[in-house]
Amino acid sequence: MTIQLNETHDAGLRSWVGSANDAQCDFPIQNLPYGVFRSSGSAEAFRIGVAIGDQILDLKAAHAAGIFATLKSPQFDQAIASASLNALMDLGNTTWGILRLLLSRALREGSPQQTSLQAALIAQADAEYALPAQIGDYTDFYTSIHHATAVGKLFRPDNPLLPNYKWVPIGYHGRSSSIGVSGQRFRRPLGQTMPPNAATPVFGPAKRMDYELEIGIFIGNGNAPGDAINIEEAESHVFGLCLLNDWSARDMQAWEYQPLGPFLAKNFASTISPWIVTLEALAPYRHPWQRETTDPQPLAYLESPELRQHGAFDVELEVLLQTKTMREQGLAAQRLSLSNFRHSYWSVSQLVAHHTVNGCNLRAGDLLGSGTQSGPTPEEAGSLLELTAGGKQALTLANGEQRVFIEDGDTIIMRGWTQKPGLPRIGFGEVAGTLLPARSV
Ligand code: MN
Repeated sequence: MTIQLNETHDAGLRSWVGSANDAQCDFPIQNLPYGVFRSSGSAEAFRIGVAIGDQILDLKAAHAAGIFATLKSPQFDQAIASASLNALMDLGNTTWGILRLLLSRALREGSPQQTSLQAALIAQADAEYALPAQIGDYTDFYTSIHHATAVGKLFRPDNPLLPNYKWVPIGYHGRSSSIGVSGQRFRRPLGQTMPPNAATPVFGPAKRMDYELEIGIFIGNGNAPGDAINIEEAESHVFGLCLLNDWSARDMQAWEYQPLGPFLAKNFASTISPWIVTLEALAPYRHPWQRETTDPQPLAYLESPELRQHGAFDVELEVLLQTKTMREQGLAAQRLSLSNFRHSYWSVSQLVAHHTVNGCNLRAGDLLGSGTQSGPTPEEAGSLLELTAGGKQALTLANGEQRVFIEDGDTIIMRGWTQKPGLPRIGFGEVAGTLLPARSV
């Protein structure tokens, strides 16, 4: 898919929503990410919104004000008034592009629509969020070769990177019912683990609780069963990206993962950020996708000239921890690591092309996880399993507390953003989640 820049990417654009013009803002007028919100603590129906500065534009109210008149149709009217993004995702990327242009023009400084849109704004500080889409299916991939090698060394010291890794984008089908939006609080899972040197497994709360720093990929319009989405068209089927924390119980995982892969170690909770950043917003920040010349080159169905030109996403990814004690002491969350999505061994377009090459049908609102995005250096690790060398080296926090894995009451926060000289910063907002004690047995 050719990447085309247009007037919505103009770095000089400013919004009449003043907070959107702050250089450190996640949501300038060049971003315009989608989410689902309502007033905090209210019984209002959830509805679709777009983040602008520290505000949310209510799209149903904006449509009632006539902003999207050129898109008016029974399908569009129903999609924009919906409590989830699925119907809008299903309309396809031509509609997404027109909608973005109309939003950009309406929110610009000097727009004649400012007066009629003022009442369609709500402060993000006064809002709560739902999952942006009904997620029918969730597939988690394993696209960081640095993560795959580091974890492989811990689980299989003699055989860290399996021979298929450099040929096939590895993934497994996950669970959508337990995916929650930022703010999710969930109990430490119970399950089976095999203690070191034991002869039989034990049952109880997982002891090695971890996070995984991932990008979530929301599918827009899907494909019919039996059809495939080829790599050149793959990105036109992607609605956008979000942040994803794929919580993991490492001790349960180590015992159960062979031969069919993760199961109860992963399906108790996964948390995503409320805002979906569109691929169109990310267009000016793309990077060439590269494969070491000494590595196997992709098979033809996973190769394309456009992949080589701009297949990678340069998204900085940060993980922070705030322990219960830090909260009580009034201390801010502390950074654990900083990585980047551009290190991914497989691209978004390759994941979509591979997922459908056998005729598997994707549907609007399906979520793909990128897999833990660890970078090439140890400080760029996207999980505690890697940062603590398999639980052997505790991290000492600024307040003197130590952590090997996540403890009850800990909140993990992930943030993401992209930036480039001369262009505004495009942020993803954040995803936060808190581990609660296990239920008593
Ligand atoms: Mn994962």
